[in-house]
Amino acid sequence: MTNKIHAWLVPTYQATMSSFAQASLPHALLFYGERGNGASALLAALSQTILCKQPSAKPIQACGHCPSCLLFFHGTHPDVITLAPEDNVPIGVDVVRSLFTFCAQTSTMGQAKVICLPQAHALNPAASNALLKILEEPTPDTYFLLATHKIQIMAPTVLSRCRKNHVLNPSTETLQAMFPNINAKVGGLDLEDLSWLAQDEKRLTAMLRFRECLNQVIKGKEVATALSQGVDESNLPIFFRDVLTLIQTFIHQGLGIFSVSEQKVSKQKASTLAALMDFYQEGLQLWQLLQYNNAINKTLMIDGFMIRLRAFYKESYVSNH
Ligand SMILES: [Zn+2]
Repeated sequence: MTNKIHAWLVPTYQATMSSFAQASLPHALLFYGERGNGASALLAALSQTILCKQPSAKPIQACGHCPSCLLFFHGTHPDVITLAPEDNVPIGVDVVRSLFTFCAQTSTMGQAKVICLPQAHALNPAASNALLKILEEPTPDTYFLLATHKIQIMAPTVLSRCRKNHVLNPSTETLQAMFPNINAKVGGLDLEDLSWLAQDEKRLTAMLRFRECLNQVIKGKEVATALSQGVDESNLPIFFRDVLTLIQTFIHQGLGIFSVSEQKVSKQKASTLAALMDFYQEGLQLWQLLQYNNAINKTLMIDGFMIRLRAFYKESYVSNH
């Protein structure tokens, strides 16, 4: 039982593991890149191989059946700790302080110890400071594997202690190879969707159909209520994010129109932008409701929203451009 990683992560995985094999792996590594590109899976795969009692040499991989691999696979390995935020609450200082003891003791299984922070940006300032202290005084055979999609908000002091590795995004060719039946369209996919869509081609097809329908609705080639039709209700909260992304695109386009050299923003442009911001806010609230409130009629709410968004688009864009 080994952790599978996506093809585009393999070069980073291999480079890291060859450093490990040559005993030149730094004790702290940070993997950064875009959200959803699989960095957490990368951390898991690296951890398992680092802890494996009999990894294969070429390629360097965990064996999948030694006691260490089995414990890892069941999530009960005593030499690995994963710190992740719960319910979007930042990781606090007490949690990080608890690592002092873990770092001071020798590994239970006789290999190494690994601390994973798949969302390293979620450390609060005090927690970052506490982590820094630990990183400044490394203990032997203890590895810190950090990942983030928000490197810009991480404490520079922590960053300076880590070897930084940029995690690549999958190429269009890779995605096409993964989803042969979807062909070129998949290039426009949000990376965040990949982790779960990779296992669910039916859902992916439904999502692409939804995306195409949204496009048609906005252009006025489909009625606004077409969007919610034929979509499984359980998919609506996820798919609705596309509508938010679309409004965001409109807002960015709007901001682009207001170039720096423009002294006066026309009243019409300003009000269009303000209206888009309102739509975005309302869309966000609706998205929350779709996710957490099962008592509402999701289809009806989306229909109402789309009818107004469609009318707004027609009035602001089609008639003025
Ligand atoms: Zn093993």
